[in-house]
Amino acid sequence: MSEPSPRVAVVTGAARGIGLGIAERLLGDGMAVALLDLDAPGVKESAERLRALGARVGAVVADVSDPGQVAAALQQVERELGPPTVLVNNAGVTRDAYLFKMKVEDWDLVLQVHLRGAFLMSQATQAYMTQAGWGRIVNISSASALGLRGQANYSAAKAGLQGLTKTLALELGRFGVTVNSVAPGFVMTDMTRATAARLGIPWEEYVPKIEAEIPVRRAGVPADIAHAVSYFASEGAGYVSGQVLYVAGGPTS
Ligand code: NAP
Repeated sequence: MSEPSPRVAVVTGAARGIGLGIAERLLGDGMAVALLDLDAPGVKESAERLRALGARVGAVVADVSDPGQVAAALQQVERELGPPTVLVNNAGVTRDAYLFKMKVEDWDLVLQVHLRGAFLMSQATQAYMTQAGWGRIVNISSASALGLRGQANYSAAKAGLQGLTKTLALELGRFGVTVNSVAPGFVMTDMTRATAARLGIPWEEYVPKIEAEIPVRRAGVPADIAHAVSYFASEGAGYVSGQVLYVAGGPTS
């Protein structure tokens, strides 16, 4: 008897950071995983490293906010790994500034990558999921959805992702597709390192200051977020949909 084909997952923004952590976890769960990212050398390097460990990995270079690139990316995934039925919308950027200083381009870019990107990727991938009668979409939101000074664009996008999650859960449930959201608190990645640099605070001072405010008294790592994504993407989570799980080392307000 031949082995059943593994589920095929697409993780956006998977060249590094949280996306790479999620990809590694889903590979560990037995899935084939396409790493999709704008950063061509980064995504190829990460995919090669994982392939050398024996993983079934694809490297896909695409901008999630471009409909043509999204369509081509999913065709590549189908060709190389099989029809994708798990999607993690993780690609993200920040362009922080107080409202009075925020440029329209920075508003547009952040909403384009997070919201338009998740919309386009979900729209293109649901075709495979509805055909299979099974699917999992996980949108990476943020604790910033609840409001954070200097992040009008980012918090609006991340709150928008929670609304998208709930509506897609309503629309796609009848096809066996669940849609959930993971909202991380502070996680140590290049993104948060860039924030520390922008504020002019050395990383070694920045992290302990933030940790002091977190109930579990430590900063998050990509594996913390990947663990929650793994649950939502699992076979057993089929009765959980439209939910937002904050993974932030404590309650959020
Ligand atoms: P990161 O280290 O900056 O990684 C983000 C990745 O997304 C990068 O490889 C980036 O590529 C890629 N990307 C950006 N724009 C893209 C596009 N248009 N199409 C495809 N890929 C694109 O960030 P991270 O900290 O791992 O964050 C991952 C996700 O978690 C983001 O959605 C972020 O908002 C969310 N999050 C992070 C934290 C945290 O504390 N780190 C907290 C809450 C939520 P480039 O290098 O080419 O830009």
